[in-house]
Amino acid sequence: MSLTPAACKYDAIVIGGGHNGLTAAAYLGRVGLSTLVLERRDIVGGCCVTEEIAPGCRASTTSYIASMLLPQVIRDLDLGSHGLRMVPCDPFLQLPLQNGGALRWWPEPERTAAEIRKFSARDAKTFLFVDAKLKKLAQYLQPFFLEPPPKIGADGLNGLLELLRVAKRFRSITNDEISELVAFLAGSLGEFLDRNYEASETKTLFLANNVYGKHGGPYQKGTAIGLLFHLLSGGDHNIQGFNGHVIGGMGAITRALASAAQKHGVEIRTSSPVARISVKNGRANGVILDDGTEISAKVVLSNADPKRTFLGMVESNELPEDFRHQVCGIKMDGPCAKVNMVLGEEPCVKGIPADSSAAQRSLFTFVSNLEFAERCYDIAKYGEIPEDLWVDCVVASNVDETLAPKGLHIMTCFVQYVPYYLRQGTWDEHRELLGDRVVKKIAEYAPNVPGAVIARQVLTPLDLERTYGLTEGNIFHGDLTLEQLFFMRPVPGWSQYRTPVPGLYLCGAGAHPGGGVTGAPGHNAAHQVLLDLRKNRA
Ligand SMILES: Cc1cc2nc3c(=O)[nH]c(=O)nc-3n(C[C@H](O)[C@H](O)[C@H](O)COP(=O)(O)OP(=O)(O)OC[C@H]3O[C@@H](n4cnc5c(N)ncnc54)[C@H](O)[C@@H]3O)c2cc1C
Repeated sequence: MSLTPAACKYDAIVIGGGHNGLTAAAYLGRVGLSTLVLERRDIVGGCCVTEEIAPGCRASTTSYIASMLLPQVIRDLDLGSHGLRMVPCDPFLQLPLQNGGALRWWPEPERTAAEIRKFSARDAKTFLFVDAKLKKLAQYLQPFFLEPPPKIGADGLNGLLELLRVAKRFRSITNDEISELVAFLAGSLGEFLDRNYEASETKTLFLANNVYGKHGGPYQKGTAIGLLFHLLSGGDHNIQGFNGHVIGGMGAITRALASAAQKHGVEIRTSSPVARISVKNGRANGVILDDGTEISAKVVLSNADPKRTFLGMVESNELPEDFRHQVCGIKMDGPCAKVNMVLGEEPCVKGIPADSSAAQRSLFTFVSNLEFAERCYDIAKYGEIPEDLWVDCVVASNVDETLAPKGLHIMTCFVQYVPYYLRQGTWDEHRELLGDRVVKKIAEYAPNVPGAVIARQVLTPLDLERTYGLTEGNIFHGDLTLEQLFFMRPVPGWSQYRTPVPGLYLCGAGAHPGGGVTGAPGHNAAHQVLLDLRKNRA
């Protein structure tokens, strides 16, 4: 039976209850569209969840720091009233050093400069100058986060309007800033740091705040862009470069989003995997669940990544061959893992005084220098698990007593640079080896940790795929490289959330502006849907 719009049960179906799917659903529900969210797992949240990893002990199993959640989304959906509470990381970042001591990145630039001055007075001065410059450049990019990227190839009046939209954003930019912006978009982090700083410690501090989740060592072209992305505004106070702990873990964000969506009438069904997107007469008109249930809607939004959506849920004959070909070519495969632990003792990290604040004792990054990171990527690139790893740790229970009973500690460890495709063996065989290497790395700086591990959960890239639905374990639904960003995300020509199938939209991290817990793709996709529905009605 062909479903006419009038016969549709819902106005909109959102496939996937990740934070972007929930954001999109909440915006659609807010204007009165009957909206259904279908999530394959038994909880909503996607990669923004808090889960039990041992009896009574909960962790942010995947994403762990809220840095770019858009203030506008927090405000529009009134997430505070739905229980969202964040506390700024203080410091943002802490780098224990191999020769003792530690270097910290504080929210206040002058305080960070004072730390850097211990290694180089010149670097400290440059830091203040560069920090101000980066913040100014990041402001030019900020507005693009909340709107579709410019439509390349639009002609006539539409083309002119697109040009004007972009020009308006850059009207006050100077010639020097244009070259600097291009250099950041195309350049490498390593070269930028070598050009500007002399002390290895200063460079490593920047490194420890960058390239997470990306392919490529720090000397690969396109890695400098992270310097700007990290300075986009986030948090409920709209602070540039905000890094926050979420009380109750990252799942508190998606619980708040789900609650806001439900308040606006959105229906959420978990344990409801979608098998196919139904297309009739060339238009998406609903979904078919794994159990065969058919549900119709005027529009369908997919929060799943582009490969999962277009190669897994849409019949191949409904998509142009070249589009499918481009989707097949999206770079995903890894390159990260996560190890979550319950500890019987708080880690005693060399270089971090035992009497420092709980917030200061709550995060530390182990990465030696730029060359180490570059080598680590090379090893992972050829399908091997580096012996010596780059590990970013957060002891969330230090700032959030809701996560574990008194006396127990929750530590989450993000591992940068492991392969999805192993040269030898399988991830099921090597899972615990990865966990052991992470513990070994931490033990170099915190010798009490190996003896304090009570429970350990290792999430390899394969686990990220199997459990969280991330194709090839890619945490951003597609690498954040220049050729996969802006008007080229997810693929050139389709960056405005619409797809070659009318009525089908992409609303997850695979769409502009990309991964991270931002809410931006969900917000923008919902607005595009509303625009199209209004146009259709007119
Ligand atoms: C280990 C790890 C650490 C990270 N650390 C951070 C961090 O600290 N800070 C940060 O900002 N970002 C971090 N990220 C990235 C960030 O979490 C993601 O980019 C972001 O959450 C993606 O959100 P999303 O809503 O677009 O997609 P997802 O969260 O992937 O949600 C997609 C949803 O769709 C569902 N789904 C897929 N297919 C179907 C189907 N057929 N039927 C029904 N449902 C389906 C999935 O189950 C999932 O719930 C991290 C990610 C990972 C994995």
